[in-house]
Amino acid sequence: TDTEVSAELIEAGKRAYELDREHVFHSWQAQGPFKPMTILKAEGSYVWDGDGNKLIDMSGQLVNTNIGHQHPKVVAAIQEQAAQICTIAPQHVNIARSEAARLIAERTPGDLNHVFFTNGGADAVEHAIRMARLHTGRYKVLSAYRSYHGGTQLAVNVTGDPRRVANDYGNSGVVHFMPAYTYRSYFGSTTEAEETERALRHLEDMIVLEGAQNIAALILESIPGTAGIYMPPAGYLEGVRELTKKHGIMFIADEVMAGFGRSGKWFSINHWDITPDLLTFAKGVNSGYVPLGGVAMSDAIFETFGDRVYPGGLTYSGHPLACAAAVSAIGVMAEEGMIENAERLGRDIIGPRLAQMMERHPSIGDVRGAGVFWAIELVKNRETKEPMAAYGGSSPEMNELIGALKAKGILPFANFNRIHVVPALNIPDEVLEQALDAIDEALEVTDKYVS
Ligand code: PMP
Repeated sequence: TDTEVSAELIEAGKRAYELDREHVFHSWQAQGPFKPMTILKAEGSYVWDGDGNKLIDMSGQLVNTNIGHQHPKVVAAIQEQAAQICTIAPQHVNIARSEAARLIAERTPGDLNHVFFTNGGADAVEHAIRMARLHTGRYKVLSAYRSYHGGTQLAVNVTGDPRRVANDYGNSGVVHFMPAYTYRSYFGSTTEAEETERALRHLEDMIVLEGAQNIAALILESIPGTAGIYMPPAGYLEGVRELTKKHGIMFIADEVMAGFGRSGKWFSINHWDITPDLLTFAKGVNSGYVPLGGVAMSDAIFETFGDRVYPGGLTYSGHPLACAAAVSAIGVMAEEGMIENAERLGRDIIGPRLAQMMERHPSIGDVRGAGVFWAIELVKNRETKEPMAAYGGSSPEMNELIGALKAKGILPFANFNRIHVVPALNIPDEVLEQALDAIDEALEVTDKYVS
């Protein structure tokens, strides 16, 4: 127990826990058995749990706190904005909003010069699709299996992971394709080049069979996050971009998780020389200090709504507190060299350490990532690649590993058979090393289940 958390705060946390179980309805959970962790305090790369234990936050709070917790400059910017003006409807000009839009437009690739603000990622995805539909006059949407695009109705229909199935009421206009996923190829590929070629051939077949004249958009995470941080093989994204251009389909790059420095560039799509038609963002735009998301769009999409009304909006679109937080967060990321730091941490620390762990731990099937955006995929057998938990599920083995990580002072991001290594971009080297040591030790748990 850390003395930095007072007995009063711990008491208040215990009372909050009771109230939570009585009155709070939680996301993606059966409410009964759910035992949420209380977090009493957060600072930099640390959080303190309900008993006052200090944990290294290796989860980024759903891969979101890119600048770490409670950055003093961003907290001050929110306070200053609150003192000046808390809320202004979207039809008015607001200084924080204009500045946030400029900073975002300057960092997105090519001619993505215009920004529509939303409250988060799912509504950004929904609006990007609506824009693509109105721009093209077509309705279908192509999306990858093994993807996550949000929890609202259309966004979850677009999602490719099993949560989609639980929310399927049919006829959303979404058609899924098999993504390029070199570790578990859907196409029986044995090399990266083969995977790229086969995945692109499959995609073009799907476009032709579905009828390009009906397909408004293709949405893809440049580096899929929740679904496993699996890196696209060389040439794949360029190929997808070519196919969408050839068939008049709008390419939506979903950068909600992969954006704002996570993979060591402002946007993950910046690893390739590609400009999408629309780009969705949220999370890292202001590290979630105040909810914010949005869509950056090309000049051509923008011009569609030059003399035609855009039929959509949100009361909190471009909320001043959220935008002031974004202006400040983007500012500190630039001033403090966080993007370059994330790139260095991936190249010099996380990448090499995970490669070493893979040599030591037979339960690691694959490691991959860039910047501070990495996945460890756990298997019971490297030959058969039998996952440590089924896709879409949990397992006693994974739960034991998560417990061991917490006991070693780590708040992990775990998903199905994976541990994601997703700390803040500015995590100090020695704290990161300490977290990686703990992960290395904890993996002895899953090694026991290797056959
Ligand atoms: N797209 C991607 C790629 C995401 O990772 C997420 C959230 N994890 C979303 C969309 C949805 O964002 P939100 O939860 O803010 O609605």
